[in-house]
Amino acid sequence: MPSFRLAALALPAVTLAAFAACQEAPARPPREFDGARALEYAAQQVAFGPRVPNTDGHRRQAAWLDSLLRQRADTVIVQAWTHVTAKGDSLALTNLIARFRPDASRRLLFLAHWDTRPYSDGPNAKQKNVPVPGANDGASGVAVLLGVADALKRTPPTIGVDLLFVDGEDYADFGTEANDVLIGSRYYGTHQVPGPKPEYAVLFDMVGDRDLRIAPEGNSLIAAPEIMTMIWKTAKLVGHDNVFVDGQGTSLTDDHMELQKAGIRAVDVVDFDYPYWHTGEDTMDKISAASLGVVGDVAMALVRRGLDGQ
Ligand SMILES: [Zn+2]
Repeated sequence: MPSFRLAALALPAVTLAAFAACQEAPARPPREFDGARALEYAAQQVAFGPRVPNTDGHRRQAAWLDSLLRQRADTVIVQAWTHVTAKGDSLALTNLIARFRPDASRRLLFLAHWDTRPYSDGPNAKQKNVPVPGANDGASGVAVLLGVADALKRTPPTIGVDLLFVDGEDYADFGTEANDVLIGSRYYGTHQVPGPKPEYAVLFDMVGDRDLRIAPEGNSLIAAPEIMTMIWKTAKLVGHDNVFVDGQGTSLTDDHMELQKAGIRAVDVVDFDYPYWHTGEDTMDKISAASLGVVGDVAMALVRRGLDGQ
């Protein structure tokens, strides 16, 4: 664990002295991620209302994200475009890319979708015509990325880190309207930002469930098994192997697939076992600071471990 030893060396001398007094190095890297703060970031998003393209909540969240990211990242790239759906709707969509050390040649990328679904068609949906509030499906992944941005502003990374917030993931039917979902990730994949590609990418989707249990997603295991092994190993190192469990989860069509098509080793960290998926009950009471904190800890440990020794 050389990178963890480096992290310990970076601590102030007084802390090192305290560790020396205990005659023992800390078993885990420092916890940098603030789960309670991440939960506040999720609550703020839900308070905007559904973040459905072309609605007020969507526009307000875009402005909020833009402003938050500019206060934290070295550079922010905004990709704004109009997507015309198969049904003829013109959607004003926005991807945001917050870059830390934009000139670093070795980079990793974290992404999450920030839009929410316009209707509720999950198997447990009681009312089909209501938009999904998206506390878990939308806000949770964004909240993790924002918590990572906070930690990276406090202690900048030694590698390049891009935080990608994609739009239009959840707009339509995944089976019959395949071109009108995963829109932002497809746009990112075909409109490359300056500089080298990330060495790998991790999508965080539905990571706030109070009852969080993340099994390896099937399409990630096929496309980038070595990245999955590395993430699960990292989760174990930070003491979260009770949440990042072994076995195989569901195989999902999600934003990571569009990045894979663009030649990026991209995986999906997702807990698909969520009864409120695509229902009007995907609300704040279903997610927790503890769960966001677990995922945030793993994300930060991935950054601090760096890109060697995968
Ligand atoms: Zn969804």
